[in-house]
Amino acid sequence: MLKKKTPKQSKLEMVSIDQLVPSGHLLRKIDDAIDFSFIEQKAAPLYCEDNGRPAIHPEVLFKMLFIGYLFGIRSERQLMREIQVNVAYRWFLGFDLTDKIPDPSVFSKNRKRRFNKHPEIFQEIFDEIVRQAIKRKLVAGNILYTDSTHLKANANNNKATQKLVEKSRAAYLDELDRAVTADREAHGLKPLKPKENKPEVKEVRTSTTDPDAGMMNRDRKPLGFFYLDHRTVDGQANIIVDTYITPGNVNDDVPYLDRLDRVLERFDFDVEAVGLDAGYDAAFICQGLENRGIEGVIADGRPKPAADRLDKRDFLYDRERDCYFCPRGQRLGYRTTDREGRKEYRSHARVCRPCPLRAQCTRRRDGVKIVRRHVWEGAKERALARRLTEEGRAIFARRQETVERSFADAKELHGHRNARMRGLLRVSEQALLSAACQNMKKIALAVFLYLFHVETDTIPPNKSRNWLLERLKANFALALQN
Ligand code: SF4
Repeated sequence: MLKKKTPKQSKLEMVSIDQLVPSGHLLRKIDDAIDFSFIEQKAAPLYCEDNGRPAIHPEVLFKMLFIGYLFGIRSERQLMREIQVNVAYRWFLGFDLTDKIPDPSVFSKNRKRRFNKHPEIFQEIFDEIVRQAIKRKLVAGNILYTDSTHLKANANNNKATQKLVEKSRAAYLDELDRAVTADREAHGLKPLKPKENKPEVKEVRTSTTDPDAGMMNRDRKPLGFFYLDHRTVDGQANIIVDTYITPGNVNDDVPYLDRLDRVLERFDFDVEAVGLDAGYDAAFICQGLENRGIEGVIADGRPKPAADRLDKRDFLYDRERDCYFCPRGQRLGYRTTDREGRKEYRSHARVCRPCPLRAQCTRRRDGVKIVRRHVWEGAKERALARRLTEEGRAIFARRQETVERSFADAKELHGHRNARMRGLLRVSEQALLSAACQNMKKIALAVFLYLFHVETDTIPPNKSRNWLLERLKANFALALQN
């Protein structure tokens, strides 16, 4: 039977906004699990106490931004349209059904008037969410994983100019100078003359629309203007403990040790090991980790040896005598240590000239074979060897489930493929708030599971505790999609 169409909904109904938000909604769980009152304390110094028009409350302002990141709404104009019609968003923000929603320009005005002068507010908010995760015992702080991912800059690849920029001096170079001097002295050589302190410059392709972005040119990665998000996560529950944005033309290893020190200092972690991919297999990283008493578990980034050439790995290093032995048993003795920290070991030409392996071994006209070894290469060899132990394999395998998973979620669910705004400051804001939202979801899930876990008396007589847990996990997965 065909029913008659019901008339338009025009009757007045008595409901509260709280009744309209489903009990399993993600925002309810986040609201239960996270204490947002710290935002007011942190932001209070940015507002005038007794002058001007009353501003939108900072907790509401940041919660609006959180909604945008939690539900992957990229445009702030679109975000306000969604808040206008979504009852759960209104409930989370403390708006009633008929309250007027702020104009989208509220974000740009606050950035211009407050946050541009105090950009550390975003970092402080991120840190506070990490502290809440630590309080809930979701962070062990003993095994950390770091990696980077690229975000497409909001810039046209063709609108660019060539620019000369000054090369920055890496922080570890002073330490390297000392290591080189000590090594030369140990071998009875004079220290090298101090290098002329002339700033080095390089030519780089710079975007005219977003000059902070960097031209990324990496194997198996797209070419163009990008930013890199360098992220560190804790191995226990995949809580993000650090996120740091650089232009896309910065190597992964450049900011690594500084950011690690920041994490150690900020959260007082007792880190035992770190899992890193081949982008971090530099000698200075391995030595820096040993200096901090941390075990590096690092993938081998050395290229595969060519089948028709002898490789450095075919030469055996004798630590006690500080020399190499070639596959034919010839001893390659120490010669010198250069400014870059490379120690040079040389063979004897009279032994090499008649050698049947010479063509595969050296291309030098004089027939001499030279092998170079970094002053910190021992630390690198130990890190690469650790990766092949049973424990090292177990630590390294967790990279996929931790930092890589964290990036996958960020890209799929939180719009982390593209930079929403232009400039290092604004992309850093995006990375910090997006990571804070991912952490909030983790904390909310943990609290939710814990609360229901203790409510085991709600299990029907014919069901087990596993039944309850499985049901809760399924419900939570649904809530995450809401
Ligand atoms: S060429 Fe010289 S260094 Fe190379 S394998 Fe022969 S003897 Fe050894």
